[in-house]
Amino acid sequence: MKHLPKYFFWFAVLAAGLVAAGCQSSHPSCCSQPGRMAGPAVTSVQTKAVQAAMTPAQSLSVLRSGNARFVAGQPLVRDFPAQVKATAAGQYPFAVVLSCLDSRQPIEIVLDQGVGDIFSARVAGNVLDDDILGSMEFACKVSGAKLIAVIGHSNCGAIKGAVDDVQLGNLTGLLAKIKPALDAVPADVQPRTSKNYAFVDQVSEANVRLVLQQIRAQSPILKEMLDAGEIGLVGGMYDLTTGKVRFYDK
Ligand SMILES: [Zn+2]
Repeated sequence: MKHLPKYFFWFAVLAAGLVAAGCQSSHPSCCSQPGRMAGPAVTSVQTKAVQAAMTPAQSLSVLRSGNARFVAGQPLVRDFPAQVKATAAGQYPFAVVLSCLDSRQPIEIVLDQGVGDIFSARVAGNVLDDDILGSMEFACKVSGAKLIAVIGHSNCGAIKGAVDDVQLGNLTGLLAKIKPALDAVPADVQPRTSKNYAFVDQVSEANVRLVLQQIRAQSPILKEMLDAGEIGLVGGMYDLTTGKVRFYDK
């Protein structure tokens, strides 16, 4: 027992070394996120101070690096019960992400984010309506998120439904929101059917860009925050075959 303190000392040295090594090799981006705890199991969460210090550009960078970890098969190891406890009293997410209902695009997983990191709104075809817009206003104006990301995906069933003019209950009205995106794809892209994956994916991209425009046009609150540089707005496309999110430069 009298040697215990010495063992503890060397254990601490070893643990610190492992933490540093892990941070630099398998989790290269964890160090770039303010307030993130480096190491094999992340127990820390977004705090008010961390959220306040983040810029829209940094927020996008965190999403990019998270997706890179997902694609590489090296997601951060998280202590979810610890994160649940740490977020119980409040939440300070750095981004709000609108993405599709599709089960193959579980957004927190593909962006490698933990409990309390991002707001997530999911609906078929990642379309916008007043409730989603109100949720974005809550996320940014009330809760302090710094980035709005709209992420569509390849081979999207909702986009195919709009292309095929599917009529089915309440789905009909949802698909109607996507149809203006069909006209945004150049007429020389043929054939304009759901079997033409290139056409479908171009409609998906046009749909995301349409939603980005709608967010600015339909929310004076978000437009003011965007114009002031308080928040950012970015579109992107998730590739079902690779797991990669391609964020739009413009
Ligand atoms: Zn979809």
